[in-house]
Amino acid sequence: KNGVVIVGAGHAGVQAAASLREDGYDGPVILVSDENELPYHKPPLSKTFIKDAEAKPQPLRGEAFYTGSAIDYRPGVRIERIDAGGRSLEISGGGVLAFDHLILATGSRPRLLPLPGADLAGVLSLRSLADARLIRDLSARSEDVVILGGGFIGLEIAATLRAAGRTVTVVETVDRLLGRAVAPVVASHVRQRLEAAGVRILTGTSIARLEGENGHVAAAITSSGERLPTRMVIVGIGAVPNVELAQDAGLAIANGIRVDHQMRSSVPEILAIGDAASYRHWFTGGDVRLESVQNATDQARLAARTITGHADAYSAVPWFWSDIGDMKLQMVGLTAGGDNHVVLGDLPDNKFSIYHYAGNRLLGIESVNRPGDHMLGRKMLGAGFSPTPETVATGPDGLKAALA
Ligand code: FAD
Repeated sequence: KNGVVIVGAGHAGVQAAASLREDGYDGPVILVSDENELPYHKPPLSKTFIKDAEAKPQPLRGEAFYTGSAIDYRPGVRIERIDAGGRSLEISGGGVLAFDHLILATGSRPRLLPLPGADLAGVLSLRSLADARLIRDLSARSEDVVILGGGFIGLEIAATLRAAGRTVTVVETVDRLLGRAVAPVVASHVRQRLEAAGVRILTGTSIARLEGENGHVAAAITSSGERLPTRMVIVGIGAVPNVELAQDAGLAIANGIRVDHQMRSSVPEILAIGDAASYRHWFTGGDVRLESVQNATDQARLAARTITGHADAYSAVPWFWSDIGDMKLQMVGLTAGGDNHVVLGDLPDNKFSIYHYAGNRLLGIESVNRPGDHMLGRKMLGAGFSPTPETVATGPDGLKAALA
């Protein structure tokens, strides 16, 4: 038995290894990562790690987990090529790994900035612990920071570095923050509070070029000609899935490695999960590729079920969180396509939830500092229960009673 090889030891890969053992898989499990770290939690990197010189990475599992569960973890190993027909992998620098099943958990990487000056020193992006260490070191020596992109990661970093005393400017091309990830009312609430905390936010503005001095970034020049002096530019303009291995092996790709409801790619012994995978979502009927811890770990659990001979279909409720300064944002469901909504709580209190509907069907909830609403929402959507807008308006107690 060659067993299962998992490529990538992020949130998806590590959960897949754990779930295989929990489901009783007793063949070899080899987990390879091109990073040289004990696998770690990514979300704290932008929220706390970069502002605290003493912060330690948070391991996904302790070292004892890998030895205790007979998981052959191999850090610093990059897979170069898949031979799908021969069921084997080529390791960068030499060596071959054979598999019965392969799980591609290769994640995504930051989208590159297509701009003059993007390759100057001091222009960074945040994906890995190594990136976070660079940002932490450079920001400790920088007065001004310019962040390109007003998405979750850009705004988390903005709030974190502002709290650490930096002068922070966020530059976003479109005329609002957080893309279409949240409702406009949530985006403008976030903007107001960040501005009140002293973050400068330029929407409807792009960066025309970056200027350097001796190979190091010295300023960002906006489309309107403003010169923003800075020794540090952080690029947070989205992520692209790591599909090249799969693509070269001839697997179907569609904004990610295309998988079915059991996480199988177009080659059934090869599965794909997490940020790298795209699929038809059971909840909306639309094709999605989600970038969240929930998506990575729930798909990992399902991939293990598939390999151990079950035929469950993916049906997890999508949820996500982001901490931006004093705002805990939590999202459950997928709210695209909503046509009406109900608000609970108060915006000025910095505590509210927005229940999004398409007609009478609850699509999802966006909460700011109302974790109870979020947890109840996960229960309701998980149970396929859609309360009427009138029931929502009765508040959490009315909702709990209706769900019971
Ligand atoms: P990853 O965690 O990216 O892991 C993929 C791994 O595969 C990487 O280590 C990569 O180097 C490795 N790899 C790729 N190709 C190869 C190869 N050929 N050979 C060997 N190894 C390879 N989500 C939330 O839900 N809430 C949050 O608050 C949140 N905050 C975030 C903050 C930051 C700074 C970042 C970067 C992400 C955040 N996310 C958050 C998103 C979440 O971390 C991702 O959705 C999740 O990490 C996806 O897991 P994954 O295993 O698919 O990919």
